[in-house]
Amino acid sequence: MKMFNKKKFTRTAVQIFFLSLVLLISISHQLVEKGIIIPIISSASLHSICPFGGVVSIYSLVTDGNFVQKIHEATVILLGIVIILGILFGSVFCGWICPLGTVQEFVGKLGKKIFKNRYNKFIPYKYDKPLRNLRYIVLGWVVFMTAYTGKLAFSDIDPYYALFNFWTSEVAIGGIIVLSITFLASLFVERPWCKYACPFGAVMGLTNFISIFKIRRKSSTCVDCKKCDNSCPMNIEISDKKQVTNHQCISCLKCTSEISCPIDDTLMMKTKGGK
Ligand code: SF4
Ligand code: SF4
Repeated sequence: MKMFNKKKFTRTAVQIFFLSLVLLISISHQLVEKGIIIPIISSASLHSICPFGGVVSIYSLVTDGNFVQKIHEATVILLGIVIILGILFGSVFCGWICPLGTVQEFVGKLGKKIFKNRYNKFIPYKYDKPLRNLRYIVLGWVVFMTAYTGKLAFSDIDPYYALFNFWTSEVAIGGIIVLSITFLASLFVERPWCKYACPFGAVMGLTNFISIFKIRRKSSTCVDCKKCDNSCPMNIEISDKKQVTNHQCISCLKCTSEISCPIDDTLMMKTKGGK
């Protein structure tokens, strides 16, 4: 195991950057309402910088040309950027950018310290597999309810919004409860919200089927040690695949030859036929 890993370090730095940026924007938005302006930082609300707002607004945009309440055009532009990233690299937004994913990962580090090798292996496969499709049901419910009511149906239980507003009166109790459950579950399971409930993760997961760059395994050099399987936070079995198209992959690169796989150039994120 390499002591300093450039890929690992870069991903952590990117995650901390976006976590800090969203926190700063959230604080700035609250200060603006009190008449205090932080130069340079946007005063936009979290709803307007969340690409998921673009997903739930698409129906009302197509049918009556309007955004649902609290959503504006920036979210659709952000959604476009994130989808382009997804077509290139798969669900990279979840693994590198989403601050809620980052915070779950940080809580998970404590879980790993407590449970060691048992961490992230508590839920039997036969229950775990179907549970992972739950997020598509959540997605369907959010899009339907938002289109039906014209309001952001998800905002009252949104843990992402609660994470950056729990100290204000703007946050609903439902959001605080879901956030608390997510933190608690993160002590046992890596990224529980991403795996089982996140409606935006459900959308992003679909890009894994079509992405140009994918995790690809060279079977001619693989020694079947299964270190890739054990390193995957999303419990994907990689060692028997030629390429990873699983909708749960978050493009974190933890399994690759640059981090966990002990054989050089055997497990890499690359294009089909790429070096
Ligand atoms: S470890 Fe590999 S397969 Fe698992 S989520 Fe990360 S990139 Fe995807
Ligand atoms: S870690 Fe690398 S060598 Fe080991 S099973 Fe996975 S791809 Fe093969």
